[in-house]
Amino acid sequence: MKKATEYSLFNDVCSFVDDAAKHLEIHPGLLEQIKQCNSIYKFHFPLRNDDGTYETLTGYRIQHSHHKLPVKGGIRYSEFVDEEEVKGLAALMTYKCALVNIPFGGAKGGISINPLKYNVNQLERITRRYTAELIKKKFIGPAIDVPAPDYGTGAREMAWIVDTFEAFSPELINAKGCVTGKPLSQHGIEGRTEATGQGVFFGIREAVNVEDDMKALGLTKGLRGKKVIVQGLGNVGFYSAKYISEAGGKVIGVAEWNGGIWDESGINIEELKKYQIKNKGFKGYPKGEFIKNSKEILTYDCDILIPAALENQITIENAANIKAKIIGEAANGPVTQEAEKVLLEKGVMIIPDMYLNAGGVTVSYFEWLKNLSRVSFGKLEKRYDMEKYRKLLATIENATGEEFTEEERDALIRGASERDLVLSGLEETMVTAYQDMNRTRKEKGIESLRTAGFILALERIAISYMDLGIFP
Ligand code: GLU
Repeated sequence: MKKATEYSLFNDVCSFVDDAAKHLEIHPGLLEQIKQCNSIYKFHFPLRNDDGTYETLTGYRIQHSHHKLPVKGGIRYSEFVDEEEVKGLAALMTYKCALVNIPFGGAKGGISINPLKYNVNQLERITRRYTAELIKKKFIGPAIDVPAPDYGTGAREMAWIVDTFEAFSPELINAKGCVTGKPLSQHGIEGRTEATGQGVFFGIREAVNVEDDMKALGLTKGLRGKKVIVQGLGNVGFYSAKYISEAGGKVIGVAEWNGGIWDESGINIEELKKYQIKNKGFKGYPKGEFIKNSKEILTYDCDILIPAALENQITIENAANIKAKIIGEAANGPVTQEAEKVLLEKGVMIIPDMYLNAGGVTVSYFEWLKNLSRVSFGKLEKRYDMEKYRKLLATIENATGEEFTEEERDALIRGASERDLVLSGLEETMVTAYQDMNRTRKEKGIESLRTAGFILALERIAISYMDLGIFP
């Protein structure tokens, strides 16, 4: 996979903002301030390898908008990381947080490396040195800038980050809140790993439940039986596909960078994931057909296409060939601005990234709140005389003829666990934001859900900037 040099995610995001701004009355000066990145930190640092050789690596942390602090956004390890990409991703974080009403400004970081080329020891040294560079320049801290996982990073890297940060800030009582997406043992939160995919599921479920919108696309209401193709079976793609399958959707195609699988009878996602981990790809998977040129799969026949890998995947080159009726952008920036025009003309519904993958940052917000107050939500469970309440529940079951599941019984007796709290907060956030966005789309008489999302986000950011005033 090669990155087209002329493509700029940041320029695409700015164009989407401009489209939305046409529907609002925002002073051009304010619009410019909103669009630009507030702080850009690019740095080089050395890595000493075990064989005595040295490498110079390039890192970034870009804070797009300080209208709310701290700023928030993931850290990406990929060989495609460059300034334009990180700027675009940071900007998307600002609009994403505003749309789902999470009180953060947007930021993003990254290192241009292919993490697969380094061993665990090297990755730990790289991550800790990267963190130290951020600490030196005050580009990290629970009240300043709070990173999280992104493409190529996960809970393991977040643990190294928090440990490094704490080593330099022994006096800070809420230092754990300097990064989210941490392992549970390091004060992470239940459900964060699955959060983005879970949010993708809630968002798509919301979209396909609007009967009129589905009718307009020639589809029936609901997820059951819908044919789904997913690009990318990493964290986001895997959990999106898993929850959609569990709700009755039928995943018939999965595309990865090193080949895809096509099986119209339906793919067992957990089985395929296990095979992928063991064999480092899908080649030789006993079910379905292996497709070498996996990008082709994006143009196969389906109801819902979910790009869950990187940006710039559906471009002017393949947009006209896309057959999906709905594109759910689980990745950031998978559909270019030019491609979106072609798709909208074809009547395709695009559920935009800034909304659809907001589940990650939403649950990050819950984790951050938990770290600031140094609580564990699980410890707030109510404890009751279990036997007494079991008997009461049995009486209700007898009277109503309805039977509770074991899980429901436990939840009714004990109160919500941390996972329940996270899930219900996430669901509420995704449902409300979809309804806001779709209502705005209809009120403004526009086709694009993305424009509607940007209108809402821009409006909120503009109000926040105006209320802040200008210093000095
Ligand atoms: N990297 C994720 C995103 O693009 C999560 C960011 C966060 O949790 O701060 O939204």
